[in-house]
Amino acid sequence: MGVGFDVICEKCGNRKTVLIGGGMLLPQEFRDDILEGRFGQDAREILREHPDWHFWIDNQPFSCSCGYVTGFAVVIFITDDGRQIRCDRHRCSQCGKVLRANSWGKGICWKCGGRMERYESMMWD
Ligand SMILES: [Zn+2]
Ligand SMILES: [Zn+2]
Repeated sequence: MGVGFDVICEKCGNRKTVLIGGGMLLPQEFRDDILEGRFGQDAREILREHPDWHFWIDNQPFSCSCGYVTGFAVVIFITDDGRQIRCDRHRCSQCGKVLRANSWGKGICWKCGGRMERYESMMWD
């Protein structure tokens, strides 16, 4: 189970559900997916160089300067000296720009330029 939120455009009804939070309890099962690059280039490089580092996977919200909002799975590694490295670079599927997590934008619709409202507290199984 996890949580997320919806963003809905007041003007054109454009709607997107963004999932956030963890819930992937067995990250070892994702090792192959990471090595195939499904969680981004950064995660792939780090896991290749440091296959012994522990990591977990967290869904985080992203927003782009073009207005697009989405959720991505972010891989977080623990280094030998206890630091955390977050692999949170992903590309916007609308305009191709590189996004970072937690850079929440202005809430402008990427289709029509109208205002997007955010609705919290969606749950799923
Ligand atoms: Zn719109
Ligand atoms: Zn974009």
